[in-house]
Amino acid sequence: MEKQADLHVHTYLSDSTFTPAQVVDYAQKIGLACVAITDHDCVDGIEPAVRRAYENSNIEIIPAVELTAETDDTEVHILGFFIDYKNVSFEKKLQEIRDDRVSRIYKMVEKLKEFDIDIDASDVFKIAGPGSVGRLHVAQVLYNKGAVANISEAFSRYIGHNKPCYVKRFKLSPKEAIKMIYKVKGIPVLAHPYIMKKDEMISELIKAGLRGIEVYHSDHTNAAQQHYKKLAEENNLLITGGSDCHGMGKGEILMGKVKVPYELVEKLKEARFSLK
Ligand code: AMP
Ligand code: ZN
Ligand code: FE
Ligand code: FE
Repeated sequence: MEKQADLHVHTYLSDSTFTPAQVVDYAQKIGLACVAITDHDCVDGIEPAVRRAYENSNIEIIPAVELTAETDDTEVHILGFFIDYKNVSFEKKLQEIRDDRVSRIYKMVEKLKEFDIDIDASDVFKIAGPGSVGRLHVAQVLYNKGAVANISEAFSRYIGHNKPCYVKRFKLSPKEAIKMIYKVKGIPVLAHPYIMKKDEMISELIKAGLRGIEVYHSDHTNAAQQHYKKLAEENNLLITGGSDCHGMGKGEILMGKVKVPYELVEKLKEARFSLK
């Protein structure tokens, strides 16, 4: 059987409930050959995953990241594959972005008070643990407090993009995100374009250096996958795909539910090796 890869997996260094070792063990259990660790604005999960894979399995770990960028009205997630994750200035920039995430949590907590919802920022940080804190952690606290019936309601009523308690970031433009990934010799790929719903932005991103699109994703319908596959082929872009697994963070373990043939990893590698 052909080897298969899941090219979009989070760890608890961002908002998954899985440790890097648990990611590797689970990937091993379900027979994946390769996993890309793509935490939001954090690379600290890569090294432990690589170590676990080296000790306990023959799974290949692709060092990657999911950078959160934003324009006036859209959130844009850019994946970077095969990054030099030990680069010191990259790590410093990520730390700045994560510091900004911390102040954003305080602002969201204040906004929630206007809706008579009283949560402690410290509870959000406790659930988040090390690495990047984000809205999924806020949603978990809201759920634990009984303020919402489920995680999805936290987003649809309060903290989803442009909902009343949403707080903008504006730390990084999509172009800057692409540039940041090139600086560490990574391949920039647009994550889940179907969630972004702004195809008109893609040509601009290509001009800025975008090299691929995530065609296969847990939130992509079959029609969306076909649409983005065609778009990728027409624009000579690489194709990637992954589950966007958050451990139990999204109610079920998604790892392995979306996987791609290893051939796509080889194409990413070719692109990586042809970078100057
Ligand atoms: P942040 O990094 O703080 O912007 O939060 C991003 C996290 O929130 C990611 O894990 C997203 O998948 C998750 N997220 C965004 N919108 C929703 C939604 N409507 N329902 C559930 N999770 C969401
Ligand atoms: Zn996430
Ligand atoms: Fe994303
Ligand atoms: Fe993700």
